[in-house]
Amino acid sequence: MTVKVRIAPSPTGNLHVGTARTALFNWLYARHHGGEFILRIEDTDLERSKPEFERDIIDGLTWLGLHWDNGVLYRQSEHVATYRSHLQRLLDEGKAFWREFTTDEKAALAADGRTPRDSIICLKEPDDTSIMFDDVIRGRIEVNARRDVGIVSLAKDLDTPLYNFAVVIDDLEMGITDVIRGEDHISNTPKQLLIYRALGATPPRFAHLPLILGPDRSKLSKRHGAVSMTEYRKDYLPEAMMDFLAHLGHTYPEEIMTPEALIAGFELANVHKSGAVFDARKLDWMNAQYLKRMSPSAFKSLVGHPELDDAAVPIMTERLERLSSVDTFSYLWEEPRYEADLLRWKGDDRARTLKALSEVALLADRAALTQDDLDMLAADHFDGTKGSVYWPLRVALSGLDKSAGPMDILAVIGPERARERILTAISKLQ
Ligand code: GLU
Repeated sequence: MTVKVRIAPSPTGNLHVGTARTALFNWLYARHHGGEFILRIEDTDLERSKPEFERDIIDGLTWLGLHWDNGVLYRQSEHVATYRSHLQRLLDEGKAFWREFTTDEKAALAADGRTPRDSIICLKEPDDTSIMFDDVIRGRIEVNARRDVGIVSLAKDLDTPLYNFAVVIDDLEMGITDVIRGEDHISNTPKQLLIYRALGATPPRFAHLPLILGPDRSKLSKRHGAVSMTEYRKDYLPEAMMDFLAHLGHTYPEEIMTPEALIAGFELANVHKSGAVFDARKLDWMNAQYLKRMSPSAFKSLVGHPELDDAAVPIMTERLERLSSVDTFSYLWEEPRYEADLLRWKGDDRARTLKALSEVALLADRAALTQDDLDMLAADHFDGTKGSVYWPLRVALSGLDKSAGPMDILAVIGPERARERILTAISKLQ
């Protein structure tokens, strides 16, 4: 049987990193087996579903490079007739029934500001049987239908299916072979199995992925930092993000891997059972590795400065981890702004700093500045204290207390602009 899997996000929020990771694992699995990867928008909760969240989810998955195979978007809200006919059949066969709400339940609905209802469609109460399934990742799971599951709600009315029912109908209609989803859905699985049973249908295989955890090993949440993909998109390359997410809960032999290698090496058997800690430092590191591997021209256009000299590229890629920090290198393309006192090396006073920069300016007037010139200057006039020469020059060129070395900056901005910056520094000190 050809593998067919799906990612089924609810458009009730922006694309969450957990959903992105689940999507990626489904995609890797589908591509590994030459199967299909489907995107299904689960918008049964009409009040909380929003078109802008659907857009964000689609953009995020596209950005990550997870292309899905069903050209036309499948939205649950557009398939009400299908759910309705299955519901009607279950009702007709006596497998489902309208359950009247108690007075208390009605009051609770009203207190919640929900639409008032008298009843809800439920699955007929299960027998005292056990429900068992072999989760591909977690192994055998067994629960008691009556004690652990109880009554399963299917729909608010014939046109308003609830999550567990809509999921089962869609997975059946689409011929989904494997449901690969977050562990937070494990408690829904027995309910869904009861629905499959009532429908007389064979369920797909289930594989529940470990949760993504924060550094304190509690479930990753806003408390730990960004959880929406949109926030990561401004800082990371999609290739780095894909690689990072693929390693979240899956063992791979190497850290840096191409999408092809990730696909080839993907096995549900290599997915961990326990939670995967989201290590933001590792993501930064991975991103830096990908940035270093870019061609100079691709890197320059990525950061929005195609006009820069190629010599600028290693200066940035040696130090850059998050793309949004690229402005810390703005001295490579615009005049730096800083306070005069930053020019002073350790104990040096203004006069000594001024002397150093004036000597450097003289040297720069005569010929291109070399490291030998600067070393000699330090030896002859500053008791061999290189910092007295290099520090003010570097600050004059970069405006920062931490930056690339002066010779590297010089190679990028050229002797003319370097001279101007040295003169600006001198005038700041005067
Ligand atoms: N709509 C569900 C979610 O966003 C999908 C659950 C499933 O994959 O079955 O979590």
